[in-house]
Amino acid sequence: MNPLPQRVSIDPNVCFGKPCIRGTRIWVSLILDFLASGTGIEEILVEYPQLTEEDVRAAIAYGAKMSRERYVDISAEATGLHVYPRSVVEVDGTTFFLGRGPEGKVLGIIGDTEGFSGTRREETLLCPLTAANAAALRSKLPWLRPQMLGLKTTAGCGDRLGSATPGHIHALRRVGGLLPILAQQSMRENARTGRTPQEVVDDATWGVFQEDWREPWGADADHLKTTQDVDVCVEADYTFYTVDPRDHVDNAAHTDSVDALRDKFDALPWNDLLDLPDRLRGRYVGHRFWIETFFLEFDETALLRAACKYEAAILHTARMYRHLTAAAGERPFELEVSVDEADTPTSPLEHFFIATELRRLGVEWISLAPRYIGRFEKGVDYIGDLAQFEADFAQHAAIARVVGPYKLSLHSGSDKFSVYPIAARQAKGLVHLKTAGTSYLEALRAIAPVEPGLFRSILALAHEQYGEDKATYHVSADPAKVPLPDELADSQLSGVLDLFDGRQLLHVTYGSALEEYGEELVAALDAHEEEHYQALETHFVKHLQPFVA
Ligand SMILES: [Zn+2]
Repeated sequence: MNPLPQRVSIDPNVCFGKPCIRGTRIWVSLILDFLASGTGIEEILVEYPQLTEEDVRAAIAYGAKMSRERYVDISAEATGLHVYPRSVVEVDGTTFFLGRGPEGKVLGIIGDTEGFSGTRREETLLCPLTAANAAALRSKLPWLRPQMLGLKTTAGCGDRLGSATPGHIHALRRVGGLLPILAQQSMRENARTGRTPQEVVDDATWGVFQEDWREPWGADADHLKTTQDVDVCVEADYTFYTVDPRDHVDNAAHTDSVDALRDKFDALPWNDLLDLPDRLRGRYVGHRFWIETFFLEFDETALLRAACKYEAAILHTARMYRHLTAAAGERPFELEVSVDEADTPTSPLEHFFIATELRRLGVEWISLAPRYIGRFEKGVDYIGDLAQFEADFAQHAAIARVVGPYKLSLHSGSDKFSVYPIAARQAKGLVHLKTAGTSYLEALRAIAPVEPGLFRSILALAHEQYGEDKATYHVSADPAKVPLPDELADSQLSGVLDLFDGRQLLHVTYGSALEEYGEELVAALDAHEEEHYQALETHFVKHLQPFVA
């Protein structure tokens, strides 16, 4: 009898759903790797006493089964394609694969092609990577659908060009232990890249298919500000919604006089908040709230300040949440509340206030992004005192555990390498890392040596556009410190990406660059696919590694 079904188990809650020997956390692939490297069965049994000889044989049989099922002969002559080997998959007698032909990537199908549209070549249907074909493929291959990721440690890998997902997956595989959000774009980014929320999900879908990523991944409709934003993203089946109520934060209340705060407090929309001034006072003033190893205490002024600064934002978030709940209907979703782009930092006391008031209004969320202390400028490392950051972050993390648990979200604005170890240490796994523009910069790094002319054009445009394009960003670059294209030899071009000022210049002008050179850039990355993935992998491993225990 084939011992396989009884001895190998795949459980999404054990080892990320990797095939394991039943009742253990020992990967089948680990056993096969031992055998391949010449380790004998006896030695394996000594090393892992919980295994039996039958388990080892089951692992071999499982490997044989997988190699039979995953192998399919797609001859290059018949299809005229280069086939991405990991993409080849057979389901119910139909084979699906991603190939590359003279016109770019295509989906190939041999077998039942109902629901797909393309052109036939011999026995293969070659389908363009359209939204309809992506939707049809998601219905056949469930791992291509974005999923909920819960409280697992997660990393959001924004991909503004729509071609970075395979590179992100290479890095995720190398590091292990993290679940990704592979589709993630804000409305601002959608406007600047000319992409729709659906295209962002579809591009991630194709990347997941190309790389055969079988672990769960999410789709983040990032920094949503209006209910209309919510609607288009629900339409595209996002699983994670980041509500950004920054425009409703009263930053002046951060420094207002007590008299000014009193006036503002009285004028708060109490009806909509389902609250009364004295009731709110009664819940906070004079109470001590224990948070693991410290307590938070509100005096009258602190409460007025927190309420005036954040109540309108809290109310807006609750409205967005209710709208989202209604729009999503039966479909589950995860919510992030994000005030990270407000002009003033969120103190631990204010974080506690926001969380307890959101809870009172019935909002449920999976992660929250305060605005941390120090400067989170785009494209460069943290600017500020790391010891102070750690003390502040530790309090935020403790509040997230006690009031939640929910994850603390760290919108890095790219490359906050010096704070990652601190965030990982203090959040103890309850953390979501969000990066976006860093992939764009790595795309530029990939093309600098192979398409120096294009890189020079983008650098020249960055110099021209920086003054205008920086308006909505936290940056402090001095363009005069960034060399002009004609001051650099080809071999020096990518060095601009290692300069503080150069990174910011290129980071915030991506919208202008894509408008002018988007097609060329995408074509260049397509022609130098491996270099692109390699640059992303090298860079993303640095982002992800600190968060792996
Ligand atoms: Zn953000």
